Amino acid sequence: MTERQVALVTGGSRGIGRAVAVRLAADGYDIAFCYRSGADAAAETEKLVREAGAQVHHAPCDVADFDAVQEFVAETGRRLGPVAALVNSAGVVRDNPMVLMPVEDWHTVIDTNLTGTFNFCRSVGFGFMKRKQGVIVNMSSIAGVYGHATQSNYAASKAGIQGMSASLAKEVAPYGIRVNVVAPGFIETDMTDRLPEKVRAEALKSIPLRRYGGADEVADLVSFLVSDRAAYITGEVVQIDGGVAL
Ligand code: NAP
Repeated sequence: MTERQVALVTGGSRGIGRAVAVRLAADGYDIAFCYRSGADAAAETEKLVREAGAQVHHAPCDVADFDAVQEFVAETGRRLGPVAALVNSAGVVRDNPMVLMPVEDWHTVIDTNLTGTFNFCRSVGFGFMKRKQGVIVNMSSIAGVYGHATQSNYAASKAGIQGMSASLAKEVAPYGIRVNVVAPGFIETDMTDRLPEKVRAEALKSIPLRRYGGADEVADLVSFLVSDRAAYITGEVVQIDGGVAL
């Protein structure tokens, strides 16, 4: 990249989102990122992004709130310039067998993971089409591909992201805009740290490479999909899971 463009990363304060923000900063993007409430973690991401040589804008923004998302995108434009790359990484889990799942946990996960991803794609879409330029990477999960017991809400949200992204990819391809999905397996972050030890041990047995992935490894894949090296790839779901599907 000759002049710095702007990448917007949701859920950029921690985990995979932070690794993506830092990686895209090193790739030459200025970075906007949002999070829900963790200001200390956001300050740490800001520091890492600045060390990578990028300008940064961040603020709390509930991805499920369409008005807040529109305002965050507009403020990013005023501070850094128009968004050129969007990575939707914000996500939550509320695990339970379906028959025990509180209805509000169904809605929280769908509203955050699926509607949140829609809200950001919807908010940058017109700008991308007007400029005939833009790239989107949405974060799914292998749970969205294969399902996972106790994760009917999460798996539905992630499968929804895949269907939504494929549809959007078809709509915007004529404008030169690419939309891809990354579906990680077990990645070492706060989200997987919170799992009971028994679940972690079981998960490990199902991974042929016999280890969890690193957030940096997911960030490398996102960096590739965002870049022109992936200029002929759109509408794909790329799994990064240590071979779980084998
Ligand atoms: P994480 O460490 O728990 O971080 C989640 C991030 O999302 C935080 O920055 C959090 O901000 C933000 N967030 C949550 N709810 C939000 C909301 N309503 N509005 C705005 N931001 C919100 O998660 P992760 O492990 O990095 O996961 C990142 C993405 O990868 C998620 O979509 C997840 O489903 C997906 N994924 C993860 C794994 C894995 O093994 N870790 C596997 C497959 C897919 P606060 O800290 O302020 O709440």
